[in-house]
Amino acid sequence: MAYKFLYQGVIASLMGLVFLYNTLLTRLFKKTKTSSSSCSSMAFPGGNCSQKTRNGEVDGSTTDIIIVGAGVAGSALAYTLGKDGRRVHVIERDLNEPDRIVGELLQPGGYLKLLELGLEDCVDRIDAQPIFGYALYKDGKNARLSYPLENFHSDVAGRSFHNGRFIQRMRRKAGSLPNVSIEQGTVTSLLKQNGTIKGVQYKNKDGHVSTAYAPLTIVCDGCFSNLRRSLCDPKVDVPSCFVGLVLENCELPYANHGHVILADPSPILFYPISSTEIRCLVDVPGQKVPSVYDGEMALYLKTMVAPQIPVELYDGFISAIDKGNIRTMPNRSMPAAPHPTPGALLMGDAFNMRHPLTGGGMTVALSDIVVLRDLLRPLRDLHDASSLCRYLESFYTLRKPVASTINTLAGALYKVFSASPDPARKEMRQACFDYLSLGGVFSNGPVSLLSGLNPRPMTLVLHFFAVAIYGVGRLLLPFPSPTRIWIGARLISGAAGIIFPIIKAEGVRQMFFPVTVPAYYRAPPVD
Ligand SMILES: Cc1cc2nc3c(=O)[nH]c(=O)nc-3n(C[C@H](O)[C@H](O)[C@H](O)COP(=O)(O)OP(=O)(O)OC[C@H]3O[C@@H](n4cnc5c(N)ncnc54)[C@H](O)[C@@H]3O)c2cc1C
Repeated sequence: MAYKFLYQGVIASLMGLVFLYNTLLTRLFKKTKTSSSSCSSMAFPGGNCSQKTRNGEVDGSTTDIIIVGAGVAGSALAYTLGKDGRRVHVIERDLNEPDRIVGELLQPGGYLKLLELGLEDCVDRIDAQPIFGYALYKDGKNARLSYPLENFHSDVAGRSFHNGRFIQRMRRKAGSLPNVSIEQGTVTSLLKQNGTIKGVQYKNKDGHVSTAYAPLTIVCDGCFSNLRRSLCDPKVDVPSCFVGLVLENCELPYANHGHVILADPSPILFYPISSTEIRCLVDVPGQKVPSVYDGEMALYLKTMVAPQIPVELYDGFISAIDKGNIRTMPNRSMPAAPHPTPGALLMGDAFNMRHPLTGGGMTVALSDIVVLRDLLRPLRDLHDASSLCRYLESFYTLRKPVASTINTLAGALYKVFSASPDPARKEMRQACFDYLSLGGVFSNGPVSLLSGLNPRPMTLVLHFFAVAIYGVGRLLLPFPSPTRIWIGARLISGAAGIIFPIIKAEGVRQMFFPVTVPAYYRAPPVD
């Protein structure tokens, strides 16, 4: 028993050292950044609403920014830029309330971003549920992992809801600004002239082809984006699919908590989406799922999945399958790899995706909007496309600490939480569950990363390897055997094999040393 305490003590001291290093580094970065940006503040622009000409064209002289897509990113962005006085023209394929299984749990870090953007009331009056943390289940044991919310206002917590209700609230709020116009239409292409995006071509609600022009077009057309191809290098990976069900008339074992079941072959999630409904998302590895239509999916859920879920949810789960409203959605991940293009920018899932296991997508999108808003604020005029494009390259570095932490954690946790026949991977999975169950700094650290409350790349790497070392220590103590040493070595190399490729794709320099990237210091072009 004593070796366990000694061992935890060593890990805690190691972590303390890295925290100290991290805090000092961050303070230094903040000081440098503040002094570089404080000299660039200028007056905000005033604005009128976008004006349509008689032939249906939206004139570039009356629009500052076109936004393609009014989902989570597009509608939040439209409100944010509209509030700053920009004349915004949003083109959205379908203005009816979306009915989807995505974007239903907003992490507390995302809620903080809503507050910063003045959009927090969009989670009011939609029967959204406050979320205070997670419950983690493995082999009949469970642990509660609370969000470390002690230092925040009592309103700050996660929120879960119907995605469509949230989006409609944001669309309405954006549309209530006199300088934001939202139009139903499908954008078919970006209009390019001499390498600069000048606007978009789109089919409006009546099927007529129209064009719209603006100095800046921001593409937020989501995970299936057709428009991103010319603006980035889209390397999309689809590791698995989520199968979605809604459970009614049952209670979660831990009220107002997300539930993660470390099942075989991969995790199962439960969280409330209203006061009477619980969303269940079952991860199915690979790109092909059993067919919903010929009953294969129902059979799979009843025979393979149902025996692994908490007993409190069993009846509700079976009823949900019998009701038959089973939805599926591919889980995509794509590192941000932009081709900076004058006149255009990508945001939201069109730009960057990660596995939805940790519910980080909306938090990253909202955090990116805050970064972009702050960069655009000093600019009166957006017409000098080349200078603007060069200036906005800083966006790709400034967003990194938050975005890359959430992205890396999502990819790494998905791998660690998935079952494997490999003994080293099994040990890593068990070590992760036990490490998080220790509570205190061992759960607060990882949960504050996941929740977006304190997303720091260095802290992420530290906890990830602390889990691996914890796993190895348990193998070797009190008496190591050659087999256990071998499994321990493979556990460490397996952990490295999980996290390093993700970090490489995110960009080591941008992620850990953003202040060394020249674009970090770009000053706004002089109007
Ligand atoms: C299964 C699953 C579960 C998820 N769960 C969570 C979660 O719990 N928490 C979380 O934070 N994130 C979650 N995510 C991720 C989250 O849904 C996304 O990060 C978020 O929705 C991204 O917002 P977006 O605006 O980029 O895309 P979307 O919200 O998808 O919006 C894109 C919009 O663009 C419109 N559009 C598309 N093409 C065109 C066109 N050509 N012209 C005009 N309009 C167009 C669409 O109609 C849509 O309204 C999940 C993802 C998946 C796949």
